[in-house]
Amino acid sequence: MIRLNENYSKLKASYLFADIAKRVAAFQQANPDRKIIRMGIGDVTEPLPAACLEALHKATDEMGRRETFRGYGPEQGYAFLRDAIAKGDFQSRGCAIDADEIFVSDSSKCDVGNIQEIFANDIRIAIPDPVYPVYVDTNVMAGRTGANLNDRYEGLVYLECNEANGYVPAPPSQPVDLIYLCFPNNPTGGVATAAQLKQWVDYARANKAIILFDAAYEAFIRTPGVPRSIYEIEGAREVAIEFRSFSKTAGFTGTRCAFTVIPKDLKAYDSAGAAHSLHALWNRRHSTKFNGVSYPIQRAAEAVYSPAGQQQCRALTDFYLENARLIRGAVTKLGLTCVGGENAPYIWINTRRDSWEFFDLLLNKAGVVCTPGAGFGRCGQGYVRLSAFNSRANVQEALERVAAVLK
Ligand code: PLP
Repeated sequence: MIRLNENYSKLKASYLFADIAKRVAAFQQANPDRKIIRMGIGDVTEPLPAACLEALHKATDEMGRRETFRGYGPEQGYAFLRDAIAKGDFQSRGCAIDADEIFVSDSSKCDVGNIQEIFANDIRIAIPDPVYPVYVDTNVMAGRTGANLNDRYEGLVYLECNEANGYVPAPPSQPVDLIYLCFPNNPTGGVATAAQLKQWVDYARANKAIILFDAAYEAFIRTPGVPRSIYEIEGAREVAIEFRSFSKTAGFTGTRCAFTVIPKDLKAYDSAGAAHSLHALWNRRHSTKFNGVSYPIQRAAEAVYSPAGQQQCRALTDFYLENARLIRGAVTKLGLTCVGGENAPYIWINTRRDSWEFFDLLLNKAGVVCTPGAGFGRCGQGYVRLSAFNSRANVQEALERVAAVLK
């Protein structure tokens, strides 16, 4: 009799966005004429930057000619893209990252989910609360937790993020081995200062721990001095893996391209205490289980680093940040407090009531979909996340409808 992986049965009933979709579908069925405005899921709405589109067309045409056709590419990504990333995102900002420390992939979601495969099963893991649910769920699937009791999995160390600590957790008092950090944060929109990140890097070095730094929203940072990469912190090359994605930087959610940085200085230890290179291990894993991103898509991603691409991506993120500014303004006017939206496309609102209750109120009375904070962890209870990924017209209409309901 074939047996299943029973760790899956520990997962909370369903994925947050599936729960939301179910309620929205039920509302739409009951109100077929009502236009719903989705201010919840973090998917982009604006088209690809022209520089990316042009590169995509050109590379697609190359695939149609014998002389320029390409089959399998390097699993780690083409050198043209790895070079452009190393120079454009790291070396130009003083971070000593080489092109061969970059692993191109089709998704940061997959990378942050898959990376834990190269670590032992009995490690101690610290995860922020609230945070992108993929970090927790993939560790549950791998059997690194016990049961879920009161919205907390046994065996995980939760790093509480709240108004008191400005949504940036300090290192825990007990030692942990693997630490997930996400800045700018999904869902709170919070960012960490260099001094705060240094505390984490120092902690990781002292404890021989590894930081998994998810910088999917780096392109939205506007406050001068806020680090865009963990490698801006001295010593981070020895203790940190960084995840980046073109999804939000360049509107690639439907195009698919991302990358993970694994410095060659990173080490993990076997049971005898001998050190091993995580770069070598991930290279082995990546080349065994992944077959590369398609050539035209990598050319489109390369175009992000051209002067025109840089300017267009900046305009794209500026557009969403203006939406965020409008949302912040409207929410504050309604007497609610919120954070985020200044260096991130998310606004985290204190609703002063149950977050699913607030979700249902906005859906049923305003036809507006938000994301209940409780879906991101116990500390998200009482909050909702609004996303700035939308057309200007939708944002304006949604804010008018919400104001009419909450006034
Ligand atoms: N990391 C964070 C924090 C995210 O919020 C998301 C997407 O919403 C991702 C990663 C996924 O990125 P990708 O589209 O590259 O899979």
